[in-house]
Amino acid sequence: MPVKGLGEYDSNNVFARILRGEIPSRRVFENEFAVAFHDIAPQAPIHVLVIPRGPYISLADFTAKASAEEITGFFRAVGEVAQSLDLEAPGYRILANMGEDAGQEVPHFHVHLFGGRRLGVMLVHS
Ligand code: AMP
Repeated sequence: MPVKGLGEYDSNNVFARILRGEIPSRRVFENEFAVAFHDIAPQAPIHVLVIPRGPYISLADFTAKASAEEITGFFRAVGEVAQSLDLEAPGYRILANMGEDAGQEVPHFHVHLFGGRRLGVMLVHS
C-alpha cells in the first residue's frame, strides 16, 4: 500500500545509482541490508550517509514496506558504522531529512552520521 503523501520511488535517484555502481562512492561499510559512504559535501569532519539497499523514499516508506529483518539490519548497520569510525566514545549525531520542509534532496531514505567535532546546537535556523 502506498504511503500517504509519497509518490513513486525514482529508481534513477543518485543513491539508487550509487547502489548499482553507476556512480562512484567512498564506501566505508556494506552488507546485505545497508551501504554507507562519505557524503560528497561533508558538513563535519566525519559525514557519512547510511542507506538501505531497498527502494524506500522515507522513514515511513521504509518502516511500512521493508521486512523486520531489513529494518533491524539497517539500524544495526548505522550503529556498526558509528563504531567502526570510532565515534561511540566522542559521540556523534544522526539525522534524516524527510520531504520538502526538511530539505530532502535525494528521495532514497538515508541517515546522515556526523562526528569528529563538537556539533553544536541541534537545529540551525536559516
Ligand atoms: P538530504 O538533503 O538529506 O537528501 O541529503 C542528501 C545528501 O547527499 C547531501 O548531504 C549531499 O551532499 C549528498 N550527496 C549528493 N550526491 C552525492 C554523491 N554522489 N555522493 C555522496 N553524497 C552525495
